[in-house]
Amino acid sequence: MTAPPIVRFAPSPTGRLHVGNVRTALFNWLFARRRGGTFVLRLDDTDRERSTEAFAQGIQDDLHWLGLNWDRLERQSARFDAYDAARGRLIAAGRLYPCYETPEELEFRRKRLLAQGKPPIYDRAALRLSDADRTRLEAEGRKPHWRFRLEPGDVSWNDLARGPQHIDESSQSDPVLIRADGSYLYTLPSVVDDIEFRVTHVIRGEDHVTNTGTQIQLFQALGAEPPAFAHLPLLVGADGRSLSKRLGSLSLADLRQEGIEPLAVSSLLARLGTADPVEPMSSLQPLIDTVDFARVGRAPARFAEDELRTLSQRTVHGLPFDTVRPELDAATAQLGEAFWLAVRGNLARAADAADWGAVVQGPLQPVIEEPGFLADALAALPAEPWDETTWKAWTAALAATSGRKGRALFHPLRLALTAREQGPEMARLLPLIGRSRAAARLRGEAA
Ligand code: GLU
Repeated sequence: MTAPPIVRFAPSPTGRLHVGNVRTALFNWLFARRRGGTFVLRLDDTDRERSTEAFAQGIQDDLHWLGLNWDRLERQSARFDAYDAARGRLIAAGRLYPCYETPEELEFRRKRLLAQGKPPIYDRAALRLSDADRTRLEAEGRKPHWRFRLEPGDVSWNDLARGPQHIDESSQSDPVLIRADGSYLYTLPSVVDDIEFRVTHVIRGEDHVTNTGTQIQLFQALGAEPPAFAHLPLLVGADGRSLSKRLGSLSLADLRQEGIEPLAVSSLLARLGTADPVEPMSSLQPLIDTVDFARVGRAPARFAEDELRTLSQRTVHGLPFDTVRPELDAATAQLGEAFWLAVRGNLARAADAADWGAVVQGPLQPVIEEPGFLADALAALPAEPWDETTWKAWTAALAATSGRKGRALFHPLRLALTAREQGPEMARLLPLIGRSRAAARLRGEAA
């Protein structure tokens, strides 16, 4: 029996969540929930200029809206001591070394190598500096940036989504882990945290595949066993083109504003590009039960906003009242389950239930087409109590007395009672409207 997994979703709070990074969040969360594991929300906020508290809060709101709760919340900005300690260990082990080249010098060398037809790999000139060289450079006011010394050779791992992978580290420049201003790039803090939080599975987008070889060497240099990795294909637009430029307009905040159902977002993003069908769901459970990296295809997953809108509408049509209740305004929620079940099949968005709430509760100016027939209908209106059989009993009696049927029978009643041409089943609406409002509307009075 394997131990329950520990996973992390690690967004940088430099923007709101969008459909691309939500997919990563979902796979982490679903995997943790399926296996009884732990889902860590890690805010990668070491970039203090671009990270904001508002975005950090926004990301948490977005995850709450989706129903993705976390078991632990960590912020990298509170963990610099841990990163500094790891830096010290890597320096002592000779794996992190100071470099003094300016960006211009590096660019010049890069171009020269390319001109010679060689790969533009950093030449490790800084490793050949003597103590005296370093002292002189620092006396000139140069501040070092720090590179991680890669071990040559292949790094391989069995990616849970992509299968066996290997990266030849000899073909990579030693990566910069710490900038000249002393700030950390993402790589070292991420690995330090993954070690300390005992992360067992790193699940993320395939744009991180190329970092993985370096990260595996970092785990090893810090004396830790690397976790398992699953790199998911990126989302692309319906036209097969990259979404990266459009992601700004595909934020969860915008989708929420538009009235898209959170369950539709989850159902689509968790199933897109997998062997399982995209279908409306009334809870996250079916997604938990079926999440499986082996069922994720290798091709990019195509995201179409139209598909999301259609799925959202179909999702609303099947939503249980308890699920939708938090999304409804207080007045609509208070109309209860019978009301919701009556109207949900006619809604494009859950919030539109409020319109039918107004129809049921009034005051509403009825539309009177045939006053004579409506007077007969009023006279035949059954006594309370009313339930969902009342409409049938009433209209059957009216059919018998008036000889009307079909549209001639039902349409004037619907118009008078709801002032709308179409809508939810009258059998369900009528008891919600209630006898006194129904009677007033049949008389042509606003009620
Ligand atoms: N903050 C990184 C990102 O958003 C995390 C990557 C990772 O999961 O390792 O790209």
